[in-house]
Amino acid sequence: MKTIGIIGGMSWESTVTYYEIINKEVIRHLGGFHSAKILMYSVDFAELEENMKNGYWQGNAVILADAAVRLERAGADFIVIATNTMHKLVPDIEKEISVPILHIADATADAIKRDGIKKVGLLGTRFTMTQDFIKDKLVDAGLEVVLPESKDMEFVNDVIFNELCLGKVLDSSRDEYKRIIEDMKEKGAEGVILGCTEIGMLIKDEDSALPTYDTTIIHATAAADLALG
Ligand code: GLU
Repeated sequence: MKTIGIIGGMSWESTVTYYEIINKEVIRHLGGFHSAKILMYSVDFAELEENMKNGYWQGNAVILADAAVRLERAGADFIVIATNTMHKLVPDIEKEISVPILHIADATADAIKRDGIKKVGLLGTRFTMTQDFIKDKLVDAGLEVVLPESKDMEFVNDVIFNELCLGKVLDSSRDEYKRIIEDMKEKGAEGVILGCTEIGMLIKDEDSALPTYDTTIIHATAAADLALG
Protein backbone atom coordinates (compact mmCIF):
# COMPACT_ATOMS: atom_id res chain seq x y z
CA MET A 1 0.00 0.00 0.00
CA LYS A 2 1.25 3.48 -0.91
CA THR A 3 1.52 6.24 1.72
CA ILE A 4 -0.82 9.19 1.17
CA GLY A 5 0.42 12.69 2.04
CA ILE A 6 -2.52 14.94 2.90
CA ILE A 7 -2.24 18.72 3.11
CA GLY A 8 -5.23 19.40 5.35
CA GLY A 9 -6.83 21.96 7.62
CA MET A 10 -8.60 23.91 4.86
CA SER A 11 -10.86 23.63 6.73
CA TRP A 12 -10.13 21.03 9.40
CA GLU A 13 -13.77 19.82 9.36
CA SER A 14 -13.53 18.61 5.79
CA THR A 15 -10.12 17.04 6.49
CA VAL A 16 -11.80 14.86 9.13
CA THR A 17 -14.08 13.58 6.37
CA TYR A 18 -11.10 12.79 4.12
CA TYR A 19 -9.49 10.75 6.92
CA GLU A 20 -12.69 8.81 7.54
CA ILE A 21 -13.49 8.09 3.88
CA ILE A 22 -9.94 7.02 3.01
CA ASN A 23 -9.85 4.54 5.90
CA LYS A 24 -13.32 3.18 5.14
CA GLU A 25 -12.38 2.68 1.50
CA VAL A 26 -9.21 0.78 2.50
CA ILE A 27 -11.26 -1.41 4.85
CA ARG A 28 -13.84 -2.01 2.11
CA HIS A 29 -11.06 -3.41 -0.11
CA LEU A 30 -8.81 -5.14 2.40
CA GLY A 31 -11.07 -5.80 5.41
CA GLY A 32 -9.92 -6.92 8.85
CA PHE A 33 -7.56 -4.64 10.77
CA HIS A 34 -6.35 -2.77 7.71
CA SER A 35 -6.18 1.02 7.67
CA ALA A 36 -4.67 3.62 5.39
CA LYS A 37 -1.03 4.73 5.54
CA ILE A 38 -1.39 8.48 5.89
CA LEU A 39 0.93 11.39 6.62
CA MET A 40 -0.78 14.70 7.21
CA TYR A 41 0.35 18.30 7.37
CA SER A 42 -2.56 20.33 8.72
CA VAL A 43 -2.09 24.08 8.19
CA ASP A 44 -3.40 26.99 10.26
CA PHE A 45 -6.24 28.02 7.95
CA ALA A 46 -6.35 31.57 9.40
CA GLU A 47 -3.00 32.32 7.73
CA LEU A 48 -4.22 31.11 4.35
CA GLU A 49 -7.59 32.85 4.64
CA GLU A 50 -5.83 36.14 5.45
CA ASN A 51 -3.58 35.75 2.40
CA MET A 52 -6.58 34.99 0.14
CA LYS A 53 -8.41 38.06 1.45
CA ASN A 54 -5.39 40.18 0.57
CA GLY A 55 -4.87 38.50 -2.80
CA TYR A 56 -1.45 37.34 -1.54
CA TRP A 57 -1.49 33.95 -3.27
CA GLN A 58 2.30 33.74 -3.31
CA GLY A 59 2.17 33.53 0.50
CA ASN A 60 -0.11 30.52 0.26
CA ALA A 61 2.08 28.94 -2.41
CA VAL A 62 5.04 29.10 0.00
CA ILE A 63 3.05 27.56 2.89
CA LEU A 64 1.63 24.73 0.78
CA ALA A 65 4.84 23.95 -1.10
CA ASP A 66 6.64 23.75 2.25
CA ALA A 67 3.97 21.33 3.52
CA ALA A 68 4.29 19.18 0.39
CA VAL A 69 8.09 19.06 0.67
CA ARG A 70 7.83 17.94 4.30
CA LEU A 71 5.34 15.21 3.36
CA GLU A 72 7.56 13.96 0.55
CA ARG A 73 10.60 13.90 2.86
CA ALA A 74 8.58 11.95 5.42
CA GLY A 75 7.78 9.30 2.83
CA ALA A 76 4.53 10.28 1.07
CA ASP A 77 4.19 8.55 -2.31
CA PHE A 78 1.72 11.15 -3.57
CA ILE A 79 0.07 14.35 -2.33
CA VAL A 80 -3.60 15.12 -1.73
CA ILE A 81 -4.49 18.80 -1.29
CA ALA A 82 -7.72 18.58 0.70
CA THR A 83 -9.43 21.67 -0.76
CA ASN A 84 -10.52 22.72 -4.24
CA THR A 85 -9.45 26.35 -4.00
CA MET A 86 -5.79 25.69 -3.22
CA HIS A 87 -5.52 23.68 -6.42
CA LYS A 88 -4.98 27.12 -7.94
CA LEU A 89 -1.43 26.71 -6.60
CA VAL A 90 -0.72 23.22 -7.96
CA PRO A 91 1.87 24.50 -10.49
CA ASP A 92 3.80 26.27 -7.68
CA ILE A 93 3.69 23.21 -5.43
CA GLU A 94 4.62 20.76 -8.19
CA LYS A 95 7.82 22.69 -8.88
CA GLU A 96 9.12 21.86 -5.38
CA ILE A 97 8.40 18.10 -5.21
CA SER A 98 9.03 14.99 -7.25
CA VAL A 99 6.02 12.92 -6.13
CA PRO A 100 2.71 13.47 -7.98
CA ILE A 101 -0.32 15.46 -6.81
CA LEU A 102 -3.68 13.70 -7.14
CA HIS A 103 -5.72 16.56 -8.67
CA ILE A 104 -9.24 16.98 -7.26
CA ALA A 105 -10.69 18.05 -10.63
CA ASP A 106 -9.26 15.02 -12.48
CA ALA A 107 -10.85 12.66 -9.98
CA THR A 108 -14.14 14.59 -10.20
CA ALA A 109 -14.21 14.67 -14.00
CA ASP A 110 -13.59 10.90 -14.07
CA ALA A 111 -16.54 10.27 -11.72
CA ILE A 112 -18.88 12.47 -13.76
CA LYS A 113 -17.88 10.93 -17.06
CA ARG A 114 -18.39 7.42 -15.65
CA ASP A 115 -22.06 8.42 -15.20
CA GLY A 116 -22.34 9.66 -18.78
CA ILE A 117 -23.05 13.24 -17.73
CA LYS A 118 -22.02 16.01 -20.14
CA LYS A 119 -23.27 19.26 -18.61
CA VAL A 120 -22.58 19.91 -14.95
CA GLY A 121 -23.16 22.72 -12.44
CA LEU A 122 -20.27 23.94 -10.30
CA LEU A 123 -20.53 25.32 -6.75
CA GLY A 124 -17.46 26.44 -4.83
CA THR A 125 -15.59 29.48 -3.59
CA ARG A 126 -15.60 32.51 -5.86
CA PHE A 127 -12.05 31.57 -6.89
CA THR A 128 -13.14 28.10 -7.94
CA MET A 129 -16.21 29.35 -9.81
CA THR A 130 -14.71 32.37 -11.56
CA GLN A 131 -11.14 31.24 -12.25
CA ASP A 132 -9.92 28.43 -14.50
CA PHE A 133 -7.86 26.05 -12.34
CA ILE A 134 -10.79 23.63 -11.81
CA LYS A 135 -13.01 24.54 -14.78
CA ASP A 136 -10.24 24.03 -17.37
CA LYS A 137 -9.71 20.44 -16.20
CA LEU A 138 -13.46 19.77 -16.49
CA VAL A 139 -13.67 21.31 -19.94
CA ASP A 140 -10.54 19.41 -21.06
CA ALA A 141 -12.33 16.23 -19.98
CA GLY A 142 -15.17 17.14 -22.37
CA LEU A 143 -17.64 18.55 -19.83
CA GLU A 144 -19.71 21.70 -20.15
CA VAL A 145 -19.79 23.76 -16.93
CA VAL A 146 -22.82 25.72 -15.70
CA LEU A 147 -22.29 28.44 -13.07
CA PRO A 148 -24.77 30.20 -10.76
CA GLU A 149 -25.84 33.81 -11.51
CA SER A 150 -23.25 36.28 -10.23
CA LYS A 151 -25.31 37.35 -7.18
CA ASP A 152 -25.79 33.69 -6.29
CA MET A 153 -22.05 33.05 -6.69
CA GLU A 154 -21.43 35.70 -4.06
CA PHE A 155 -23.92 34.01 -1.73
CA VAL A 156 -22.40 30.55 -2.27
CA ASN A 157 -18.93 31.95 -1.51
CA ASP A 158 -20.08 33.84 1.60
CA VAL A 159 -21.73 30.74 3.06
CA ILE A 160 -18.46 28.81 2.62
CA PHE A 161 -16.26 31.36 4.37
CA ASN A 162 -18.70 32.89 6.91
CA GLU A 163 -20.48 29.68 7.91
CA LEU A 164 -19.19 26.28 6.73
CA CYS A 165 -15.46 26.89 7.31
CA LEU A 166 -16.43 28.04 10.84
CA GLY A 167 -18.46 24.88 11.44
CA LYS A 168 -21.88 26.59 11.05
CA VAL A 169 -24.55 24.71 9.09
CA LEU A 170 -27.73 26.79 8.63
CA ASP A 171 -31.09 25.62 7.25
CA SER A 172 -31.66 29.02 5.61
CA SER A 173 -28.43 28.64 3.61
CA ARG A 174 -29.36 25.09 2.64
CA ASP A 175 -32.66 26.39 1.23
CA GLU A 176 -30.84 28.97 -0.90
CA TYR A 177 -28.30 26.40 -2.15
CA LYS A 178 -31.25 24.17 -3.11
CA ARG A 179 -32.78 27.00 -5.12
CA ILE A 180 -29.46 27.74 -6.84
CA ILE A 181 -29.11 24.06 -7.80
CA GLU A 182 -32.66 24.11 -9.21
CA ASP A 183 -31.71 27.15 -11.32
CA MET A 184 -28.71 25.28 -12.73
CA LYS A 185 -30.98 22.35 -13.54
CA GLU A 186 -33.21 24.72 -15.50
CA LYS A 187 -30.11 25.82 -17.44
CA GLY A 188 -29.58 22.20 -18.50
CA ALA A 189 -27.15 20.88 -15.89
CA GLU A 190 -27.51 17.11 -15.38
CA GLY A 191 -25.49 17.00 -12.17
CA VAL A 192 -23.88 19.41 -9.70
CA ILE A 193 -20.31 19.46 -8.43
CA LEU A 194 -20.04 20.30 -4.74
CA GLY A 195 -16.72 21.91 -5.59
CA CYS A 196 -15.77 23.01 -2.13
CA THR A 197 -14.81 20.42 0.46
CA GLU A 198 -17.26 21.82 3.06
CA ILE A 199 -20.44 21.92 0.93
CA GLY A 200 -21.16 18.28 1.78
CA MET A 201 -21.78 19.45 5.36
CA LEU A 202 -24.76 21.45 4.03
CA ILE A 203 -26.04 19.60 0.96
CA LYS A 204 -26.64 15.87 0.73
CA ASP A 205 -27.89 14.07 -2.35
CA GLU A 206 -31.47 14.15 -1.04
CA ASP A 207 -31.37 17.97 -0.76
CA SER A 208 -30.44 18.40 -4.39
CA ALA A 209 -32.58 18.54 -7.54
CA LEU A 210 -29.52 17.17 -9.38
CA PRO A 211 -27.23 14.19 -8.66
CA THR A 212 -24.37 15.55 -6.52
CA TYR A 213 -20.65 15.10 -7.15
CA ASP A 214 -19.13 15.81 -3.75
CA THR A 215 -15.44 16.56 -4.33
CA THR A 216 -14.49 15.52 -0.78
CA ILE A 217 -15.94 12.03 -1.23
CA ILE A 218 -14.63 11.66 -4.78
CA HIS A 219 -11.12 12.91 -3.99
CA ALA A 220 -10.76 10.88 -0.79
CA THR A 221 -12.02 7.71 -2.52
CA ALA A 222 -9.62 8.28 -5.44
CA ALA A 223 -6.76 8.72 -2.93
CA ALA A 224 -7.54 5.39 -1.27
CA ASP A 225 -7.84 3.67 -4.65
CA LEU A 226 -4.50 5.10 -5.80
CA ALA A 227 -2.85 4.02 -2.55
CA LEU A 228 -4.14 0.50 -3.05
CA GLY A 229 -3.03 0.45 -6.70
N1 GLU B 1 -12.34 23.95 1.39
C1 GLU B 1 -12.75 24.92 0.44
C2 GLU B 1 -12.54 24.42 -0.98
O1 GLU B 1 -12.64 23.24 -1.21
C3 GLU B 1 -12.47 26.33 0.70
C4 GLU B 1 -11.41 26.68 1.67
C5 GLU B 1 -10.15 27.09 0.96
O2 GLU B 1 -10.07 28.25 0.54
O3 GLU B 1 -9.25 26.29 0.81
O4 GLU B 1 -12.35 25.17 -1.91
